[in-house]
Amino acid sequence: MTGPASERTRVHRHPERGAYDRATIHTILDEALICHVGWVDEEGEPRVLPTIHARVGDTLYLHGSRAARPWRALRAGAPVCVAATIVDGLVLARSAFNHSMNYRSVVVYGRAREVTEPEELDLAARAITDHVAPGRAAEARMPTVDEYRQTLLLAVPIAEASAKIRTGPPKDDAEDLGLPIWAGVLPLRLAAGAAKPDPSLAAGVPLPPSLRPYRRPRPAG
Ligand SMILES: Cc1cc2nc3c(=O)[nH]c(=O)nc-3n(C[C@H](O)[C@H](O)[C@H](O)COP(=O)(O)OP(=O)(O)OC[C@H]3O[C@@H](n4cnc5c(N)ncnc54)[C@H](O)[C@@H]3O)c2cc1C
Repeated sequence: MTGPASERTRVHRHPERGAYDRATIHTILDEALICHVGWVDEEGEPRVLPTIHARVGDTLYLHGSRAARPWRALRAGAPVCVAATIVDGLVLARSAFNHSMNYRSVVVYGRAREVTEPEELDLAARAITDHVAPGRAAEARMPTVDEYRQTLLLAVPIAEASAKIRTGPPKDDAEDLGLPIWAGVLPLRLAAGAAKPDPSLAAGVPLPPSLRPYRRPRPAG
């Protein structure tokens, strides 16, 4: 359960941008296409790797090859830190010093557990597939027993987490406001291009509903 800030989730720089409520944290995790997973390896070296995630309720699912290092470490009980980021805009100030970005980001701390029950494996696999392209799990062939055997699915409780959100225009110093330098915000968003069919696509297979149009996260309702 996310709640009030913990000792390690309390935002120090610009604390007014921090949020710890479940709804805010869930919304950002659902919209962020990818996350970055951080842990400390057996040699004591910090590691951070980008990966796909999906949220179901208060659980964050991660997955990958059983041979991959992050999942082996997390399965063995390594504490994990997951960060997900959405960039909403470039904040261009008059001064280089005050340039910034508008963003929504989340940090989750915890330990992962391996998902082993067939029902939860299916739930997690569907959630990850739908996170990437909402509706895709209903269209794709889902994993076979052997494919599940090759894959490690991990569940991280979203129990100790923070969000940080910056919005609005640049914050230049008063003495710079009169400078003849453009300042403002350039909004940015993730945009899909036109879908390119696989060259070996069977004849007559139409564009699936999940791409007509591609929209994520799944619209509410
Ligand atoms: C796209 C983007 C660009 C940024 N660019 C810069 C930059 O160039 N320079 C810079 O100093 N900062 C930048 N930030 C902000 C940065 O993420 C940190 O918030 C800041 O550097 C340090 O904050 P702090 O001292 O509170 O950190 P800490 O005291 O180390 O953080 C304490 C806790 O606050 C929470 N927290 C801190 N930051 C975030 C966050 N962004 N999202 C969710 N939870 C958070 C975490 O739970 C963390 O454990 C950027 C953020 C984003 C999303």
